[in-house]
Amino acid sequence: MEAQIKDQFGRPHTYLRISLTDRCNLRCFYCMPENGIQLMEKSNIMSLEEIIRIAQIYQSLGVNTIRLTGGEPLVRKNIDYLIRQLANLGVNLKITTNGILLDKYLDLFQEVGLKQINISLDTLDKAKALFITKRDYYHRIMDNIQSAVDSGLHVKLNVVLIKGVNDQEINDFISLTKNNPIAIKFIEFMPFKGNQWDWEKGVSQQEILDTIREKFKAVEAVDNPAHSTSVNFRIKGHLGSFGIVSTITNPFCSECNRIRLTADGKMKNCLFANSETDLLTPLRENKDIRSLILESIKTKKFSRDGMEGKLDPSVYEKNRSMISIGG
Ligand code: SAM
Ligand code: SF4
Repeated sequence: MEAQIKDQFGRPHTYLRISLTDRCNLRCFYCMPENGIQLMEKSNIMSLEEIIRIAQIYQSLGVNTIRLTGGEPLVRKNIDYLIRQLANLGVNLKITTNGILLDKYLDLFQEVGLKQINISLDTLDKAKALFITKRDYYHRIMDNIQSAVDSGLHVKLNVVLIKGVNDQEINDFISLTKNNPIAIKFIEFMPFKGNQWDWEKGVSQQEILDTIREKFKAVEAVDNPAHSTSVNFRIKGHLGSFGIVSTITNPFCSECNRIRLTADGKMKNCLFANSETDLLTPLRENKDIRSLILESIKTKKFSRDGMEGKLDPSVYEKNRSMISIGG
């Protein structure tokens, strides 16, 4: 299927991230604002059939990869039905989860051939996990990560690094790659509505690499897959690898092929885009949303919704909170 969703820079968009819900069983402070969010009305959230329909339309326009996210995608009711239907479309299906409910779905993932899974794990310390997520699920998440690795899934661990919170653990995460075939994905702390972002708290790509090179001498670059959002490395002799998502200090926008769909059916061209295109209302009115998708992508800016230099609070504070975008 030829990629038809092209922006004004000629970038084909073939990767759709669908948020299934703005609900979550954790409260990570960098994602969910301290005072919570105004939850979406249930009637405004895409039904499973609507998600499948929209996914089919994107597929007909050349999308070949779909990542399910949220909020926490696995809290969505009847997600097993949705996963089966999306897998039947023949797209490359992936998921990002906090891991709490993973044990219930490992057999299903095996059955439908869902192989790539990102699990958020910011710390290897139980008390710190409670501080970051405000909920006590640490052991359950760790057990589920082990089960996911044992079941043969390609596991990436997403680690958002925050100074004074978990930056001392960078090399502990690297040590995990010695005997485990996992990839650690260190993510620079990004600004969204209400998450009290301040780059003083962020840890840059350079700082991460310097910290790792101090302890591990044999850091090797590995080939980055096309459209990768991370620069990737491994330690010679380790089974696993690591990558850095440097959205703040070294954005990877030039080859961007990603589109987002929020749980209430709004197309977002970029994580940082304040403008959205409502697809759900016209879909419910039986209108053809293909032209809306093709027009919307033409408004995509080259990088970070136009914040090519400094990140501007008057822009990102108008965005949604990460939990209701779908990371
Ligand atoms: N609940 C699932 C999870 O935590 O994996 C999926 C949704 S979560 C919004 C997706 C990813 O976004 C997680 O890996 C999370 O760590 C990351 N994330 C959330 N807020 C972020 C921020 N302010 N900066 C960087 N990454 C963030
Ligand atoms: Fe929930 Fe994921 Fe956000 Fe944490 S990062 S609050 S697990 S959606």
